[in-house]
Amino acid sequence: MSTAPTDGQILLLSEEDCQKLVGRSDAFTAVENVFAAMARDDAYNFPVIREAIGYANALYGFKSGFDKAGLTLGLKSGGYWPGNAQKGLTNHQSTVFLFDPDTGRLKALVGGNYLTAVRTAASSSVSIAHLARKDARVLGMVGAGHQAQFQLRAAVEQRDFEKIVCWNPHPDMIPALGKVAEDIGLPFEAVSQEELGAQSDVIITITSAFEPLLMRDWIKPGTHVACMGTDTKGKQEVDPALVAAARVFTDEVAQSITIGETQHAIAADLIAAGDITPIGAVIDGAASGRTSDDQITLFDGTGVGLQDLAVAQAAVDLAAKTGVGTAVTL
Ligand code: NAD
Repeated sequence: MSTAPTDGQILLLSEEDCQKLVGRSDAFTAVENVFAAMARDDAYNFPVIREAIGYANALYGFKSGFDKAGLTLGLKSGGYWPGNAQKGLTNHQSTVFLFDPDTGRLKALVGGNYLTAVRTAASSSVSIAHLARKDARVLGMVGAGHQAQFQLRAAVEQRDFEKIVCWNPHPDMIPALGKVAEDIGLPFEAVSQEELGAQSDVIITITSAFEPLLMRDWIKPGTHVACMGTDTKGKQEVDPALVAAARVFTDEVAQSITIGETQHAIAADLIAAGDITPIGAVIDGAASGRTSDDQITLFDGTGVGLQDLAVAQAAVDLAAKTGVGTAVTL
């Protein structure tokens, strides 16, 4: 074993390695670039496999794709095990496999748990950067689990937020998110759902809900809503009427309408797939983003495989510069 892979060797990057290597700004850049590449058809995701396996209440699957511009080919395998928290593990478990696009040989095995959280936070962050009003001051958090902490840290870097408000279906989880706000140095208040809507300029939803937690009438004009929790058929975080009232953006339209937040508004014929703009087109300047201060913008961040590959590739590139990681021969 050595630390730098020679030709034909595989680079192993542990969870700890990834935490050392990939910061929030690295993830932001990787995700913003790959969203833009997707909108230009330079990168595409393969169909997602995600199944309830009928054991341990787990959802398990694969997300994969190919970025022709960045020459990144691979997959993320993993899912959601709701009982893990009691075992001292995070509920999401995943691993990224990167392959050499010229030969198909395995190039790197990368721990995917930290990277999933940091790339998901980068996704809502990219949406805030491109769609939220510049004068947004109050950030509303719906959700207070593992991902919420990463979401909060990344979001506050995008605007001059002065206050965080939070509502969570399980109130006992809220103080842990409050500690993150304290660490960041921002006031934090637990509020009702209606109050959250009334106060917030930007809202992130990041729960495992299967029913609307935010109703259309609670959301004030000009709000940017990033719906990040719905990544499976049947899940839902917001009122379909809110989706219909908003200008809607997503990471990938095909995924948004099948497993993302817009699946319900689509099923109810409130919007059509053509009403949804890929955020990559906004990043690239090919489509407009927010067009008025009063407009509600809604980003459906469904989580695409190319995001995982992009941050895993960033980890591999940074490892090459720093010597972090372990090289092995299969
Ligand atoms: P977690 O288990 O740490 O936290 C779960 C959160 O959802 C908590 O806020 C909890 O109070 C809430 N919740 C749990 N059961 C609920 C229910 N039945 N109804 C309403 N709320 C409920 O999970 P996490 O790791 O923070 O993940 C949160 C969600 O984000 C999950 O749905 C997960 O699948 C999703 N996720 C999405 C992406 C993406 O790219 N879009 C990436 C990672 C995770």
